Amino acid sequence: MSKKWVYLARNAKEEYAGIYGHAPTMDEMKVLFGGKGAGLIEMTSTGVPVPPSFTITTEACVEYMNTGEFPAGLWEQVLEALRDIEAQTGRKFGDPENPLLVSVRSGARTSMPGMMDTVLNLGLNDATRAALAQLTGNEWFSYDAYRRFIMMFSDIVMGYSRDHFEEKLNELKAKEGVSADPEVSLEGLKGLVEEYKRMYKDHFGEEFPTDPYKQLKAAIIAVFNSWNGKRAVDYRIHEGIPHDWGTAVNVCTMVFGNMGNDSGTGVAFTRDPSTGEKVFYGDYLLNAQGEDVVAGIRNTKPVRRMGEDMPEIYQQLLDITHKLERHYRDMQDTEFTIERGKLWMLQTRNGKRTSRAAIKIAVDMANEGLITREEAVMRVTPKEVDALLHPQFDEKEVKKAKDEGRVLSTIGVNASPGAAVGILAFDADTAEAWKKEGKAVIMIRPETKPEDVHGMIASKGILTSRGGATAHAAVVARQFGIPAVVGARDLDIDVEAREVRINGKVLKEGDWVSLDGATAHVFEGKIKLTDPDFDKEVELRTLLEWADAIAARDGVRRWPSDYQGFPTRGLQVWTNADYPKDARRARLYGAKGIGLCRTEHMFFETERLPFVQQMILNADAAQALFDRQKRLQTILSTGKEEGANISAERKAEVAAELEVLKREIAESDAVKVYLGALEKLLPSQRSDFYGLFEAMDGYPVIIRLIDPPLHEFLPGHDELLARVTLMEAKGLTELPNDKEGEPPYKLDEQKLLLAAVQKMHEANPMMGLRGIRLGITYPDITKMQVRAIFEAACDAALKGILVHPEVMIPLTGHVNELAVTQTELEVVAKQVMAEKGIEIDYKFGTMIEIPRAALTSAKIAEYAQFYSFGTNDLTQMTYGYSRDDAERRFLAKYVENGILPSNPFQQLDREGVGKLMQMCVYDGRKTRPGMECGICGEHGGDPSSIEFCHLAGLNYVSCSPFRVPVARLAAAQAVLRHS
Ligand code: PEP
Ligand code: MG
Repeated sequence: MSKKWVYLARNAKEEYAGIYGHAPTMDEMKVLFGGKGAGLIEMTSTGVPVPPSFTITTEACVEYMNTGEFPAGLWEQVLEALRDIEAQTGRKFGDPENPLLVSVRSGARTSMPGMMDTVLNLGLNDATRAALAQLTGNEWFSYDAYRRFIMMFSDIVMGYSRDHFEEKLNELKAKEGVSADPEVSLEGLKGLVEEYKRMYKDHFGEEFPTDPYKQLKAAIIAVFNSWNGKRAVDYRIHEGIPHDWGTAVNVCTMVFGNMGNDSGTGVAFTRDPSTGEKVFYGDYLLNAQGEDVVAGIRNTKPVRRMGEDMPEIYQQLLDITHKLERHYRDMQDTEFTIERGKLWMLQTRNGKRTSRAAIKIAVDMANEGLITREEAVMRVTPKEVDALLHPQFDEKEVKKAKDEGRVLSTIGVNASPGAAVGILAFDADTAEAWKKEGKAVIMIRPETKPEDVHGMIASKGILTSRGGATAHAAVVARQFGIPAVVGARDLDIDVEAREVRINGKVLKEGDWVSLDGATAHVFEGKIKLTDPDFDKEVELRTLLEWADAIAARDGVRRWPSDYQGFPTRGLQVWTNADYPKDARRARLYGAKGIGLCRTEHMFFETERLPFVQQMILNADAAQALFDRQKRLQTILSTGKEEGANISAERKAEVAAELEVLKREIAESDAVKVYLGALEKLLPSQRSDFYGLFEAMDGYPVIIRLIDPPLHEFLPGHDELLARVTLMEAKGLTELPNDKEGEPPYKLDEQKLLLAAVQKMHEANPMMGLRGIRLGITYPDITKMQVRAIFEAACDAALKGILVHPEVMIPLTGHVNELAVTQTELEVVAKQVMAEKGIEIDYKFGTMIEIPRAALTSAKIAEYAQFYSFGTNDLTQMTYGYSRDDAERRFLAKYVENGILPSNPFQQLDREGVGKLMQMCVYDGRKTRPGMECGICGEHGGDPSSIEFCHLAGLNYVSCSPFRVPVARLAAAQAVLRHS
């Protein structure tokens, strides 16, 4: 017996259980029957009225792709299933008296808008057309169905574009002086059918196939082939869908929504897919076929008004869709048809939705008790959370645009929210090409079709003049989170002329427009974007509070018994913030601490930079004197020089030398300027830190000591050289400053700077004098920073603020570096606390950015009281890549060619960098059980990396304020996935 390729919806689940030994889960059904097929089978099994159908499995498609042959036994099974449907409906396929007509639809495991369309009315020929007329008493309808079928079959099955057929219909309408399809005369339609058949024969050199069985087989093959069509392949590449899944083929009994005014068709969502509100949502049309609604060719009515036309059926539809939503425990997107007063459900699936709607629906459903809070948290993706934190139009600018008469349209449908600004592109290829050139594009079309998807994806926004909330443009835009306004009927879009006309205005291709997919407003020109308002995001905040509660539960992480002090709760989310305003934002977004404050950022501020530069320019000279002084003092205090005891004579000599040196130091300009600059910087740093403690009252604040190579604070070498050369060549002692309002450049200063920069030159500064090495070389700088931190913390504590400063020493590679540095700095901390008369809770720790530090973690943890993984540097050093060079030169190619699975600077490399981290945490906690470990590299905001951090036993991830909400969700999802 051949394999089972075909399943009837009415008993597919039982048949499956008979073969596989268990009832199928929804996922198993999707794999075998595709999403649409699984939906039909599931819906049929819930007892709602569904037209009888059968599904050809995805396995049949895969077999066909592999062999290029119609699978053995498939056709016989199709015929057998057809007989069953004939029995269920009392109609016969190809019967001239009571014909069964079917639709043929593709349906992959996940919905793919790039796939084959549906062929409707299959089974029609001259004889069955006549029977249809007889049965319905509607000859006009029978011809309309027939001409649609010939067009669809030619286009979708045979690849002869429907545009040729539409053109003939338009000619006919023009000839008859009518504008809508239903107004065309019966005679006109009859002629059109003959014309269509002639066109088919002229094009293919053979008659249009009248044998319904031949039609059916051809349609099934066309669906199989559509899996490897360009559109489908492009879509799969973009979405990362495997190419070997194949598609199922669904053959369903046709029911007709165009049998008069007691018939109709529509699309209904159980909630608004744009806002998530619990309202019945969708479009319908009386006396129409499904494609009329979806194609956006006719302007539809909102489904909420269907009660006015057919109150009883509307109520039945509400009941059924409600039942379906409860059955699937998710928002449903349904298609229905009413055939002469009888309602049929054609399809149901979990509806695509905007990010905003996804969050609202998840929270509402949990509050309604339909799903759990855990499920709600799992239903929202990090990307959806991110989308809500994207910029919106600045209200003031919108008002200004209105006042200036720059409103182009307000009557479209707000199909997919978000603000978009870009230049108009009139077709998908242009949109795609311009995107590649780095341009922001708004794609404008009368309506969109599946072949436009590549352009839509490339666009910042989508604008159409036809269609409703469920038109192709709207569905695709929502799916990809692209702002869209559809059905702006007042726009007269002339694709040929590459222009759009509205209210006497003409906009050309390449002109700027701004659109708001939430309000459906379209403006001429650019409108400024503003930051989102987190306070107003009630549902998002609720969802993230649930997420936090999930992550904070005890016992969600369990570790082997020899692991010491691993956290049993999930990850906390901290933030990387340098300024109080960032800290406040991050706290509002839910951050529970600062994981990284990069102190050097403050050095760049205009009023401070001159002091920083003075500090740098004099550091070497001053430090040389201090080092000498220290050496002499050590000789005197130990009585030894280079290991040997010294004579009394030598001692006196050294003492005298020290006295001279002390005078030299007291008079040294370098020392004065150096210490003077540090003294100037101290209060600024103190007030920076005070602001952070204030903003993070009660939470830990990790402050990192100066990290970058010092030359970064000086002008560039080439720039200085050019300036000095120019001034000398022209004999100038002064030159106007490049920056407005700044004092002129002075030749002698510029020469000094140039000499300093040349002296500081390093072959590879990122691996040179930076991080902890700076503090060892110029300890006064880091001592000043620690003093500032503790003065600020003590001052804040004295004012009642709860402070937890953590001093982070960057770039440790060897434990001895930390031993020297930390010991010296802790003295300063204690000194300040004694001066201020207050003890505060504090820690000293280090960043782990160098593989050697990770490898020797057991020793480093003897000093460090906490670790923070600087995975930006740790990734660079583990791979031996310089990030900038790698990203510019070869990384994209590596990822494209599959040499690397992803960019390791974006997604943490678990296998390499991750392994170092795990080892480091494990060894560190062996030395210091319960040691706080976190991450502050950019990976701290990346969901996959966050999941890894959860598994590796970190206490927190720290990311930029804007990523905090995303990280909170990702942290809870890691818990739910792994506990
Ligand atoms: C890191 O290296 O991951 C880090 C956070 O430090 P920076 O990016 O400042 O070098
Ligand atoms: Mg770093």
